[in-house]
Amino acid sequence: MSDTYCIYPFINVHTNTDGRCKLCCHVYSEDYIQVDGKDAVLGKTDWWNIWNSKYMLDVRANMYAGKPVKECSRCYEHEAKGLQSSRQWANENYSMPDRGNPTHLSSRRRR
Ligand code: SF4
Repeated sequence: MSDTYCIYPFINVHTNTDGRCKLCCHVYSEDYIQVDGKDAVLGKTDWWNIWNSKYMLDVRANMYAGKPVKECSRCYEHEAKGLQSSRQWANENYSMPDRGNPTHLSSRRRR
């Protein structure tokens, strides 16, 4: 398993209450999942176009290859400080589903 692998992009999508989607709730930057050059919006953008978007495929490929994903910098910062990151926690507590479909949808109220 690579040092940048995280299970979340393989099982989860996070949305703000306005429907815009991110990799997970630990992405604090304004980096939203992109579909055809636009922010993916749950309820407006086709779900499978979100889940199978080039953006998501690139993130997963980079994680498998051990390449850093800019949206995940918060986790890398925690790890560099010797803290347990959300990435590490998720990898320990979730497992890959039998099929490549999402198992989680999280949401957060906008601040
Ligand atoms: S590495 Fe961190 S920020 Fe990136 S998807 Fe996993 S938990 Fe979220």
